[in-house]
Amino acid sequence: MTRYVVPENELIGVDEALAKVLEGVRPLPAERVGLEDALGRVLVEPVRARENIPPFPNSAMDGYAVRYKDVADASKEHPVRLRVIGSVAAGYAPELSVEPGTAIRIMTGAPIPPGADTVVRFESTDEPERKEGSSLEYVSVLVPPRKGDNVREAGEDVKAGEIVLDAGTLLRPQEIGLLASIGVTSVHVHRKPKVAILSTGDELLPPDSEISLGKIRDANSYSLAALVRKYGGEPIMLGIARDTEEDIRSRLNKGIEAGADLFLTSAGVSKGDYDVVKGVLNAEGEISFWMVRMKPGQPLAFGYVHGVPLLGLPGNPVSSIVSFEQFGRPMLLKMEGRSCIRKPTVQAVTAEPFKNSGRRNYVRVRVERKGDCYVVRKAGPQGSGVLQTLSKANGLMIIPEGVMKVEAGEPVEVQMLDWPEIVQCEI
Ligand code: AMP
Ligand code: MG
Repeated sequence: MTRYVVPENELIGVDEALAKVLEGVRPLPAERVGLEDALGRVLVEPVRARENIPPFPNSAMDGYAVRYKDVADASKEHPVRLRVIGSVAAGYAPELSVEPGTAIRIMTGAPIPPGADTVVRFESTDEPERKEGSSLEYVSVLVPPRKGDNVREAGEDVKAGEIVLDAGTLLRPQEIGLLASIGVTSVHVHRKPKVAILSTGDELLPPDSEISLGKIRDANSYSLAALVRKYGGEPIMLGIARDTEEDIRSRLNKGIEAGADLFLTSAGVSKGDYDVVKGVLNAEGEISFWMVRMKPGQPLAFGYVHGVPLLGLPGNPVSSIVSFEQFGRPMLLKMEGRSCIRKPTVQAVTAEPFKNSGRRNYVRVRVERKGDCYVVRKAGPQGSGVLQTLSKANGLMIIPEGVMKVEAGEPVEVQMLDWPEIVQCEI
């Protein structure tokens, strides 16, 4: 394993850091999954239809299957009276043909009987006016249809042999329904990333612990695991490592044994005396440490441990989430084979002024729609330990590098925290 140390004071921009971490991951190999597990997964190969959908011409309405010629001139004044020779329900094959002067009652989804080419819906006949219990032996058509009305042709939705879904398609509920309709019950999709999560710090205790002086509860393992799930991965919990190289090393090894595709660590990558994660990573593999010009979340590490990519996030609970959203989320989506990985943004207008240090700032805001426009306000105090403000926020307003102040009423770009990536991509 090559080892190198990048100067610790290296300051890089968010876009440059993102490009570097994305270079480090590839779409994961394929696995076959049943349709019930396929939601949100991405196809690795195209899917072809073996048969037409619908497989046979069928009725789109409840009504009467007729010959167009018979009823072309029907009107209220001159109704066309047809003899009803039978009926056909969805799920059954018609037993009779429609001969001139006759009709067959037909239900939605039932096959069009031989001889018929058009379906006249009940509303265009005297059926709704009929008294209960009156004979169904004849029906009068009161409105002329167009030829072929209410007939769904075989192959109208999908033609046999056609590629129904391309490789790279993200499977949404409608794609899953389409696959079921063509008889495809399992698909070849990119594997879900297994993401091993490690919190580091002597101060950390599990959430069910009583707090003593100096100790805090581990928030990051839980928020990061939830983010991994939110973006389609499977978390592997490596627990809390003490600030010793030994503990960190042995927990990372557990992640390797569990088959992790990606490591997420939190804390220990800044400049403090006990930021030992850096030491371990330097010794274990190729790791770069950067000070990314962003707020919250300056320190960031990226590299490989035994060939597995590792993203080292800052320790502050807000910084770790915001940094994950900028760097971890797109890595995960790329591993899942998703092509649409940009966090959705909206153009908004500020309702109040915002000050900035000049770094790219992700301000926790509430975005509200007012008529045609989105308006943003601070969601609360912006300290990077104040997780509650992120809980009140639905967006991250981006103040670009170099901007020291944004006035009220100025246009801004806001990342929407809970919008799916696909809203901003062509399907
Ligand atoms: P560090 O990156 O180690 O300097 O940590 C920055 C801050 O984040 C410190 O106040 C830590 O106590 C806090 N912190 C680190 N890890 C966690 C965690 N897993 N949950 C909550 N806070 C944390
Ligand atoms: Mg620490």
